[in-house]
Amino acid sequence: MARYTGSVCKLCRREGLKLFLKGDRCFSPKCAIEKRNYPPGEHGQRRRVKVTDYGLQLREKQKMKRVYSILERQFRNYFHMAERQKGITGENLLRLLERRLDNVVYRVGFASSRIEARQIVRHGHLLVNGRRVDIPSYLVRPGDHVQVSDKSREMLAIKAALEGVKKREIPSWLELDPQAMRGVVRVLPAREDIVIPVQEQLVVALYSK
Ligand code: SF4
Repeated sequence: MARYTGSVCKLCRREGLKLFLKGDRCFSPKCAIEKRNYPPGEHGQRRRVKVTDYGLQLREKQKMKRVYSILERQFRNYFHMAERQKGITGENLLRLLERRLDNVVYRVGFASSRIEARQIVRHGHLLVNGRRVDIPSYLVRPGDHVQVSDKSREMLAIKAALEGVKKREIPSWLELDPQAMRGVVRVLPAREDIVIPVQEQLVVALYSK
């Protein structure tokens, strides 16, 4: 599957905020946006011109895609799924993205970033309800148990991530048992449980044109 292979710190600088794409480094003074908080590129430090409504919508869409490390086509598919569901499309979209297995693995602390979580899932280190699942886009449901497999419990990356999870909060819709290396999906996330700084209604407006 296609994936973005460029510098992820440039993505944060482009959006003007921390997207937490690099694990522990994001919490350290080495974070690129702490040192250079302006867009990347030759003209990054130029005075900003007025941003149009379309520009604002585009930035919000890019931000949402980049937080979850998803490329355009897959993101658009999520939007169409969200449109078909009952309720508010923007909230449905965010909820679908939060339910991805790679996001859950990151949120409960088995990985220090979503990119690392995706690799852990792809390499078959995770069980969902006791069965191996290696599809990062798998959508979890309430009651699902996401557990590190027995043979992967000694993996240094997972142990380090669990140690580092103290730096961030585990959302209330998930529960972690660190001893068993098991996360439980208690309920589906409500909008207020999803604390990413994005205005989803602008994304909906962009795709509804
Ligand atoms: Fe973004 Fe993390 Fe890079 Fe900082 S270290 S710019 S938060 S990816």
